[in-house]
Amino acid sequence: MTKQEVLQEAKELGVEFIHLQFTDLVGVMKNLSITIEQLEKALDGELMFDGSSIDGFVRIEESDMYLRPDLNTFVVFPWKPQVGKEARLICDIYNPDGTAFEGSPRQILKKIVKEAEDMGYTMFVGPECEFFLFEIGEDGAPTLKTHDNAGYFDLAPVDLGESARRDMVITLKEMGFEIEASHHEVAPGQHEIDFKYADALKAADDIMTFKMVVRTIAQRHGLHATFMPKPIFGINGSGMHINQSLFKDGENAFYDKNAKYQLSETAIQYTAGLIKHARSMAALTNPTVNSYKRLVPGYEAPVYIAWSPKNRSPLIRIPAKRGASTRVEMRNPDPSANPYLALAANLAAGLDGIKNNLQAPEPVFSNVYEMTADEKYDKDIESLPGTLIEAIEELKKDELMMKVLGDHAKVKYVGAKLREWNEYSTKVSQWELDQYLTSI
Ligand code: GLN
Ligand code: MG
Ligand code: MG
Ligand code: MG
Repeated sequence: MTKQEVLQEAKELGVEFIHLQFTDLVGVMKNLSITIEQLEKALDGELMFDGSSIDGFVRIEESDMYLRPDLNTFVVFPWKPQVGKEARLICDIYNPDGTAFEGSPRQILKKIVKEAEDMGYTMFVGPECEFFLFEIGEDGAPTLKTHDNAGYFDLAPVDLGESARRDMVITLKEMGFEIEASHHEVAPGQHEIDFKYADALKAADDIMTFKMVVRTIAQRHGLHATFMPKPIFGINGSGMHINQSLFKDGENAFYDKNAKYQLSETAIQYTAGLIKHARSMAALTNPTVNSYKRLVPGYEAPVYIAWSPKNRSPLIRIPAKRGASTRVEMRNPDPSANPYLALAANLAAGLDGIKNNLQAPEPVFSNVYEMTADEKYDKDIESLPGTLIEAIEELKKDELMMKVLGDHAKVKYVGAKLREWNEYSTKVSQWELDQYLTSI
């Protein structure tokens, strides 16, 4: 869209308020609201905000930053009143001197997308976002109670969650999403909505929009939606599988009908890159303390770093579809990740595999969870980090990932995550009291 088109559409649709959105380093959406009168100024990139109040951005002394809306992201919020309509634009962050702010997650993704383009590749991404819907208690705070006891693909006709999910799908469609599937997931109260794949930048924008819509619509149904990876011990957690492929000259570069498994050399090298960087990328794709409570055996979440053209148990699966749909499914990312950083990390790792002609290990065909320790050792199968601190230590050691984040964000990100870990690990938990208070 052009500036004139956005202005005209906003006027014709009766938009009164525009939310200028961007995402901070740890993946939280931020928002500056303006009235329609200021839209032209905003579209010209003349709106300033104070960057020092945003997590992971800049110091007070250098805090003036500019918002530059991406015109293609203009969309009206369908759930808002018909009078005084509200719309949003996703923005990039610029320094006062007119250069792009290198610490912005969207800019970090754009940079690696550009690198892929220079190599002739476009990354396409189809995320599978899972989430829980919980009841809200008398006091207005979310509980851990789910309204239903349904399971995978169950139909629950009189279920609150079901009607909320239906409303989410309708709203997303009104906002231009193409919904491919939506279903109840394995755990009670757990759902998944899958939307059509898109290029990496749009996919990351879409994930942010998706989370906002899911939360908003859940609230309107008296429910709380959470993207916390493992809200309840003992049942499945929520993942955000990332289906990814590269296209070159309009063709899927992962497909080779004459090759083994019909996977091109590029696909194998890309997979090898994902495997090589899996342990360090976890700090970006599984960025919370809670993320590592999901990555344990027994709940369909990956633990072991291996790939398979069939089996779902390892980290990377190659779904059966071939031709234009040939893709690699990375199964460890979870919805607490900043999608811009998660996709930047995956793409950078895959490109590293291609550039350096990395060879993937032999695929596994059996269930990795049933392998003995000897077998895993023999096949050189490593595990994902078991805790956030282990992941951060890996991240710090990985030069490629540090380069992807850039000088500004790497310091801010690692610092924020170390603080999070420190806060968690110094708290005394109920488990410790149960375990030690009377026994020692
Ligand atoms: N919820 C599982 C996870 O944590 C995935 C379940 C599925 O999609 N089959 O990744
Ligand atoms: Mg799925
Ligand atoms: Mg699923
Ligand atoms: Mg999947």
